[in-house]
Amino acid sequence: MSDAEAEATFRKVRWSDTDGAPVCPKCGGLDAYEARRPNGALRFRCKACKADFSITNGTLFASHKLPLRAYLAAIAIFCNEVKGKSMLALSRDLGLSYKAAFVLCHKMREAMATELKGRRIGGEGEEAEIDGGYFGGYVKPANFREDRKDRRLWKNQSGKRECVVIVRERDGKSVPAVFRTEGAALDWIKSRIKPGTIVNADEAPSWNDLHSKFEMRRINHEKAYSLDGACTNWAESYFSRLRRAEQGHHHHIAGAYLLRYAQEASWREDNRRMTNGDQVHTVAAHAMKAKPSVDFSGYWQRHLPAKSSAV
Ligand SMILES: [Zn+2]
Repeated sequence: MSDAEAEATFRKVRWSDTDGAPVCPKCGGLDAYEARRPNGALRFRCKACKADFSITNGTLFASHKLPLRAYLAAIAIFCNEVKGKSMLALSRDLGLSYKAAFVLCHKMREAMATELKGRRIGGEGEEAEIDGGYFGGYVKPANFREDRKDRRLWKNQSGKRECVVIVRERDGKSVPAVFRTEGAALDWIKSRIKPGTIVNADEAPSWNDLHSKFEMRRINHEKAYSLDGACTNWAESYFSRLRRAEQGHHHHIAGAYLLRYAQEASWREDNRRMTNGDQVHTVAAHAMKAKPSVDFSGYWQRHLPAKSSAV
């Protein structure tokens, strides 16, 4: 794709209401003209308020350094994957540094997560499933057998283990969140599932408290995976995707970023039947509608780990 084609594509997703004609982010004026920088980078100048702005000004890709077509290529490569993308592989695909690829992909995850904001699933007569999966805090077993500790015991764990909890409507959408334990997620679950929903859960006692709010169907996995309509298979397929992303692509997920990976898996799971072209368009459109990154603004300058904010 040429630079001009990439510019046209980004203009259309950014200013979809005006079919790609620039709208001043400062005053909303529609009368902007092209005033490129000396290096050829696209820039607009508003006739009304004289403000200069770029295509990505005020969006998730604000202050972009790479050519626009690199962003489109990155989104396409990222969406082509089924479970996730290794940042080392992406940096090689695009000729970027590892860190640039890492930040870029986290911005795409942030774009995907805008769909999850405030999402409530289920409704009268609908069925939803909940489940939790533990991630991170891996403790490596010692070399010699006699030195190995029982890693199931709390005192021998790293304290970094976290629980991804998913609520997912059958034949519908999902929302993940991260907690210390399944039990800590109950209030959040109640806020994300609409009243009247039938909730499927496994036999773990941590879910018992939900019986007061929802009609519950419990499935004992020691006996069966599905029985009398009760199952958590939709939730399990979400975890199989996230688990394979962790093991197959990322190998290690740092706690601060776990929520973003969980949101990425949720987006991939919900949109798995969407065509690749539509996926790329959707992610690009979310990125252009989102504000500059909450996770990564100033990340380069401050040498701080980014903080994933809960949605
Ligand atoms: Zn203006």
